[in-house]
Amino acid sequence: MTSALLRCDGPKMIDRRKFATASLAFAVTSPSIMRARQPKRVIVVGAGAAGLTAAYHLVNAGIGVQVLEASNRWGGRIRRLSNFAEVPLDLGAEWIHDDPTILGDIIGQGSDSLGVRTLEYRPETYQFWHNGRLRDFDLLRHAYAEVKFFDTTWYGFFERFVVEGIKDNIRLNTRVTYIDLDGNGIVVRTHRGQTYQADKVLVTVPISVLQHGQIVTSSTDVNARFEDLRDIQFGVGFKVFIKFRERFYPDILFDGPRRSVLSNGWSEKIYYDAVFEKPTDENLLGLFTAWDTAIPRSEMDHSELVQDVIRELTEMFGKVVGDSFVAARAMNWSKEPFIEGSYSMSNRGNWNIVDILQPVSNKLFFAGEALGGDAQSTVQGAAFSAINAVSLLLQT
Ligand SMILES: Cc1cc2nc3c(=O)[nH]c(=O)nc-3n(C[C@H](O)[C@H](O)[C@H](O)COP(=O)(O)OP(=O)(O)OC[C@H]3O[C@@H](n4cnc5c(N)ncnc54)[C@H](O)[C@@H]3O)c2cc1C
Repeated sequence: MTSALLRCDGPKMIDRRKFATASLAFAVTSPSIMRARQPKRVIVVGAGAAGLTAAYHLVNAGIGVQVLEASNRWGGRIRRLSNFAEVPLDLGAEWIHDDPTILGDIIGQGSDSLGVRTLEYRPETYQFWHNGRLRDFDLLRHAYAEVKFFDTTWYGFFERFVVEGIKDNIRLNTRVTYIDLDGNGIVVRTHRGQTYQADKVLVTVPISVLQHGQIVTSSTDVNARFEDLRDIQFGVGFKVFIKFRERFYPDILFDGPRRSVLSNGWSEKIYYDAVFEKPTDENLLGLFTAWDTAIPRSEMDHSELVQDVIRELTEMFGKVVGDSFVAARAMNWSKEPFIEGSYSMSNRGNWNIVDILQPVSNKLFFAGEALGGDAQSTVQGAAFSAINAVSLLLQT
């Protein structure tokens, strides 16, 4: 089993110093972007946190960039739920698992000048659901703190600071299927048979896409490396938000024995007040679940998922759940095309993802959350891996 830091992307009792060190290690590489030798044209495959961050820094360095995104939207595993609550909610990444100064690091600016309001996420009331019983354990409030956005989301942050300057470089509904490394440059082919030529290509798709052979290259050696990725587990995951007329739940509720959450420092399934300290009086309960093996809920569609969650909450809290239910939204990431899961988790074969996804012939580079080092499986891990890849790509 890997460490807690690598596994959980819901709230966790993080080792904040370790995260800060990881960020610094990445951040110091970014200035080299400005000094670097420059290819004329770079293709970025995937418009999630990594692809968008890479495109932002490449455009700022004066490089011609084309981002090719398979789905009909940018953001990947950052996605906003608007028009459901008085505040926007995150259907994917939500917590800032680090000091908020990483927001400035992502775009190469000091975070003070950004004007992004964040909040200290320090829940006060805790419950555990185990063996059919709810138990309070509010002492945890002394041990647990994280950071969240106050009135925006990860999606809103990228929209305002990253995508604004690169939106014309993004081509949606364009799924890359083949990468030809044989000629002088590099050629990328899409599912419709269109080809794009560039000096270098940066691939930022989830490792699930490479694991499933959805992108192949002209090199048997590189294709064999993608096969090695199959030993890295890419978990299932989903979020559910439910609006209630009445508030009957604690700030945070862990599913499982107290002992296991305390000893691991994390939980893969939590219910939480989704608008804790946010500017609204609405009652919104969130559910975050990410698991390293398939679970029945990962097969469910929206309404099945909501019904099953309501059933479970009714077991916990009784009739008040049905009586005060208003509406719900769910996002099952395991069923999302081109992503098919939550994030990289444990490693069954002890492969090192960084070794497997080494650059190829100074032409093909990789970034994404799986390459996020100590910040693996987070947004900043994806973004910092992109900054590193861009720095490398411009120097070689
Ligand atoms: C439920 C859930 C909760 C999470 N919570 C948090 C959290 O609280 N905090 C946190 O920091 N992180 C969290 N994460 C993790 C975080 O969302 C990811 O680590 C990060 O967003 C991944 O960014 P990425 O750019 O590496 O990949 P992605 O966001 O997956 O982007 C890759 C893009 O590539 C595209 N693509 C795929 N195949 C192709 C192809 N063939 N051609 C072209 N494009 C293609 C995809 O459509 C996608 O847009 C959470 C994730 C999930 C699922």
